[in-house]
Amino acid sequence: MHLARFPRVRLFPAPTPLERLDNLSRALGGPEIWVKRDDCTVVATGGNKVRKLEWLIGEAKAQGASHIVTQGAVQSNHVRQTAAVARKFGMTCTALLEHRIDTNDRDYLGSGNVLLDKLFGCRIEYRQGGLDMNAEAEKRGAELRAGGEAVYVIPGGGSNKVGALGYVSCAQELMQQADEMGLRIDRIVTATGSAGTHAGLIVGLEGMNAQVPVLGIGVRLAREQQEANVYRLALATAEYVGVKGGVPREAVVANCDYVGAGYGIPTEGMGEAVRMLAQEEGILLDPVYSGKAMAGMIDLIRKGVLAKGETIVFLHTGGAVGLFGYNTFLEGVV
Ligand SMILES: *Cc1c(COP(=O)(O)O)cnc(C)c1O
Repeated sequence: MHLARFPRVRLFPAPTPLERLDNLSRALGGPEIWVKRDDCTVVATGGNKVRKLEWLIGEAKAQGASHIVTQGAVQSNHVRQTAAVARKFGMTCTALLEHRIDTNDRDYLGSGNVLLDKLFGCRIEYRQGGLDMNAEAEKRGAELRAGGEAVYVIPGGGSNKVGALGYVSCAQELMQQADEMGLRIDRIVTATGSAGTHAGLIVGLEGMNAQVPVLGIGVRLAREQQEANVYRLALATAEYVGVKGGVPREAVVANCDYVGAGYGIPTEGMGEAVRMLAQEEGILLDPVYSGKAMAGMIDLIRKGVLAKGETIVFLHTGGAVGLFGYNTFLEGVV
């Protein structure tokens, strides 16, 4: 792999920290848990989308775009990070926000990410739940192009082969960090949603022959569908970066048992995980992704599925801004 072949902008100082979570590891009685702090990617309070945007905005700039169109749920972290990066490069950002969750909650609809979208001057348009939102974004992009604008459309979550380069690169960064520290990693655990993070990691690790498995904890779809999405994107990304032979299907593993009632709907385990990381480690998770992923990891440790003797790296994908969209729920767990 030779990633410098692809256009890129630099958005944060790499590497993000790799820290051992002594208190959490002790509280659970093992395994040895580390965290890769991709919640610390600086722009607009950080998160995993900043890594993807280095490559997506790189390509947008190379194409001469001045208007970014993207989409997400109302409390989308991706839209918040995209809106901020667009401003940094003097671009307009139009975001289509999907009412994916049926709620009248004032905090969910007005605070957290959506408040910051507005601060970043993002042009917000709302859509009803259940539409093909990437198709909606393409359609809106085509309309703006017809009006003479130089538009670059970024799919939901920044998850295509270009955005996934952010996590191919993160895999390289993480393994180099671990090698320099003499840290042997048995497994990486991450939230998996629109699939770019999970797919990028798998391709990066495969391209280095690192032989470190990745466990994705799903936040929306059933396992079969989630794994299919990750595998499809991993194959496209592997071809794009030139990883010969692609990736083996067995490398794609998702556990989707911790979604609860649906995307963005709180679970008891998420509440416990958010509180536990805050109080044991002073680390903020988020209610939609990293909170549910951590809840899954904690449960799998308690059940012995993840062994006590392992060394696990939890990839913290950010999202704490979303906590402010869930005041009522969180007040009940503190
Ligand atoms: C988008 C997001 C994820 C999921 O990443 P994908 O690449 O969409 O699978 C995880 N955590 C947070 C906080 C996110 O915003």
